[in-house]
Amino acid sequence: MMTKDQYIESLRKLKMNVYYMGEKIENPVDHPMIRPSLNSVAMTYELAEKPEYQEVMTAISNLTGKRINRFCHLHQSTEDLVNKVKMQRLCGQKTSACFQRCVGMDAFNAIYSTTFEIDQKYGTEYHKRFVEYLKYVQDNDLTIDGAMTDPKGDRSLSPSKQADPDMYLHIVEIRPDGIVVRGAKAHQTGAVNSHEHLIMPTQAMKEEDKAYAVSFAVPTDAEGITMIYGRQSCDTRKLEEYHDMDLGNSTFGGHEALVIFDNVFIPNDRVFMCQEYDFAGMLVERFSGYHRQSYGGCKVGVGDVLIGAAALAAEYNGAAKASHIKDKLIEMNHLNETLYACGIACSAEGCKTAAGNYQIDLLLANVCKQNVTRLPYEIARLAEDIAGGLMVTMPSEADLRSKEVGHYVEKYLRGVANVSTENRMRILRLIENLTLGTAAVGYRTESMHGAGSPQAQRIMISRQCDMESKKQLAKTIAHIDESQNK
Ligand code: SF4
Ligand code: FE
Repeated sequence: MMTKDQYIESLRKLKMNVYYMGEKIENPVDHPMIRPSLNSVAMTYELAEKPEYQEVMTAISNLTGKRINRFCHLHQSTEDLVNKVKMQRLCGQKTSACFQRCVGMDAFNAIYSTTFEIDQKYGTEYHKRFVEYLKYVQDNDLTIDGAMTDPKGDRSLSPSKQADPDMYLHIVEIRPDGIVVRGAKAHQTGAVNSHEHLIMPTQAMKEEDKAYAVSFAVPTDAEGITMIYGRQSCDTRKLEEYHDMDLGNSTFGGHEALVIFDNVFIPNDRVFMCQEYDFAGMLVERFSGYHRQSYGGCKVGVGDVLIGAAALAAEYNGAAKASHIKDKLIEMNHLNETLYACGIACSAEGCKTAAGNYQIDLLLANVCKQNVTRLPYEIARLAEDIAGGLMVTMPSEADLRSKEVGHYVEKYLRGVANVSTENRMRILRLIENLTLGTAAVGYRTESMHGAGSPQAQRIMISRQCDMESKKQLAKTIAHIDESQNK
């Protein structure tokens, strides 16, 4: 396994084509806008090095028999699925941000089982290729950007009916030695901090869309790839002199990028689906199922930090003993643990796929994510309630440090006498970071739209809930005699 420092050095060797605010970033690894998000991925390496986290952060590979980082693992049991969620909660607690590496892990597990079934039907060799690829990933402990979401253009039109055929990533040429692809993947979590992209189709496809049914792996610095780093609320605070305090969380972050593929060549050994449109839906369903499980871990870990911050804010304000504050903190914990319960439940109810790795219970994973589209918003609302309005009106760290006005900030922003003004400001900035700042991308909007927007889960819930058997239960209890119906 790589150490944290080896991971950082390995990224330095890549010659990625990255843009931010209209400018090419020559050294993404050390760029102040990007580094906090890289630090979050680095935490997945750092924790795996610690003996006390070995069980949750590492696993024994079924492919090589070696100990590997769990982020590279194919789940071999429901216990593995449960440990995955525990690992994500831990990483969320340690970074208070999106640590990005889960998209690759979820893609590995979905592609592993789907390629097995494609090969069974078509006699192709995608599974064998993918196993070889995954051994390479595991042996080198790589971070992989699992990439599913296309820009999608006009949502009422299928991929092949779009005015611009590139609105969905597609195959433009099939050669004897590989394929050429063009298009883009949007909202790509961790793209700039990853060694490779692992591409999947974004939705179920019909025959007319078969050029869009494509899955492959490609290094992030391959020719023809451009990554445009996304903006986040309050992001340029990272460039300010006093960014440490005013960011709330200056060490860690998460990020997404728009990744463009401009006629990129993919050799055959890295192609895992090529026009098998009837399997696109299966791959999407499995990847999104795994990633909906993931949110029952990562968002809970970040929620733990937010709850802790709200409790501290209450103490620093002198409000900790008020019964309504205590009750709000209990409610925040109740909501957060409800999400965790969903993450654990869909894992415990998992089952073995035909390929042999374990998959979550799809209904419960979708229920998990549906709750994640709601409960973090209520947790954030309660945190803002407890924090008080000062969270959004207080002066900057530069004012606190000012020779002219610093003493006023120090004097008038103090809460209880035994806590420094600076510490009170720090905890309020952390709550601001999670509810309105850079981390709000991960904690709020990503809770809504990441791993699929709420309606996507409702469609899956309607498909998986087996309504007919429930109607039959009611008929039996009520002694319904259908022969009486006209
Ligand atoms: Fe992992 Fe959560 Fe980020 Fe997805 S949103 S990559 S599950 S930390
Ligand atoms: Fe996500």
